[in-house]
Amino acid sequence: MTNTIRAAVMPAPNVPIELRELPWPELQPGAAMLRTLYSEVCGTDVHLHHGRLSGVPYPIVPGHVSIGHLSHIRGTVRDIDGVAFAEGDLVTFLDVHETCGACHECLVTKQTTRCPHRKVYGITYGVNDGPLGGWADHIWMKPGVKLLRIPAGVDPLQFIAGGCGLVTSVHAVERGEVRLGSSVAVLGAGPVGQAAAALAALSGAHPVIVIGDPAPRRDFALRMGATHTIGLDVPAADRAAQVRALTGGRGVDVVIEAAGDPRAVSDALDLVRDGGRVVIAGQYTDGGDVPINPHRQINRKHVEIRGCWGCDYSHVHRALQVLAVQGRALPWAAAVTATYALDRAADGLEAVATRRVVKAVVAPNS
Ligand SMILES: [Zn+2]
Ligand SMILES: [Zn+2]
Repeated sequence: MTNTIRAAVMPAPNVPIELRELPWPELQPGAAMLRTLYSEVCGTDVHLHHGRLSGVPYPIVPGHVSIGHLSHIRGTVRDIDGVAFAEGDLVTFLDVHETCGACHECLVTKQTTRCPHRKVYGITYGVNDGPLGGWADHIWMKPGVKLLRIPAGVDPLQFIAGGCGLVTSVHAVERGEVRLGSSVAVLGAGPVGQAAAALAALSGAHPVIVIGDPAPRRDFALRMGATHTIGLDVPAADRAAQVRALTGGRGVDVVIEAAGDPRAVSDALDLVRDGGRVVIAGQYTDGGDVPINPHRQINRKHVEIRGCWGCDYSHVHRALQVLAVQGRALPWAAAVTATYALDRAADGLEAVATRRVVKAVVAPNS
C-alpha cells in the first residue's frame, strides 16, 4: 500500500486548517483502515482551534466521532460477540484508545474515563502518531480500537448527527439516574443538550425543560422531546420561578448541565429540588470560576452534584441502540444543517464556532 491519506490538519491553535497528505500507516495484525463517510465538527474542535484544551499534540487531524466502511483489515478483528469484521462493513469506533486496564482508575475506582493513559482520536493523538482523526479520507484503526457495527436501519447521517453529543448525553443521563416520571431540566441547547432532552424523554421523564439559546435551537429541542423551553433572555430568577411553577414549587429532580458557561452550574443548583441531583457535563474546558453559595445552594438543599467526564464503550453501544430502536423517529439528522467536503472543513468549524449550525459534518470522500 503506497497511497497516502488526505487530511484536514489543524497545525496549531488559531492557525488556519490546511490540507495535507499523510503517509499510509503500516497495518499490524489486528489493525484496520476506515474509509471515512462522515466525521463531525463539534464544540470540542472549536476549543481545540482556540487552544483551550491542555495536552494536545498539535498538529492534529481533528474529528473524534466518525463513521465509515472498513477498507483494509490486517488479520482478524472481532466485535463484542466474537463475530469477525469484514472489509466493507459500516462501523463506528470508540474514539478513546489505550485505556490501560492496569492503573488505579481502571482497576480500583473503576472510572476508566479518568485513566491517565487514554488517548483520544482527533484530540490527544497528533499527526506524528499517524492518521488518527476523522477529518481525513481514511482513519487508522490501531489494534485494540473498539469497533461497533452500525445496526440495520440506522442512517449514517443520523448517527453522525447525534455524534459525540448523543454519546456524551447517554453518559450524562445515566449519571443523572433519570427515571420514569423524573422531572428534568437541561441547561444548554447545543448537541449535548438536544440529545439529553431526547434521552430524558425516552427515559420517561416529564417535564423535560430545556433552557438555552438561540430560538431555533429551542424549537428543535421541542421536536427532540423537550416539553418546555426557556430562553436566556428571561432573567435567571424568572427562569427558576418558571421551573418551580412546572414542578409543584419544588424544582426539578435532575438538572443536566450541558451549557459550558460556568454560570450555568450556579443556575443548576437553583433549579434542582431539595435532595435532587445535578450532573455537570458541559464544562469540558476551563471557563473560569463562578460564585456559589455553599449553604443555600448545596448543603441546606441536600443536593447531589456529579461530574461527567468522557465516555466509554457502553455509551457508544447504547447510543446506537437508541438510534436503532427507541429514538429512531426523532429528527437527529435535521440537526445537521450542512456537510462539508474535506477542503471546506474550516468552513464547518467556523459555522459551529459562530453557532450558525447545531452540527456540521465533514464528508471526506464526497
Ligand atoms: Zn488505566
Ligand atoms: Zn465532540
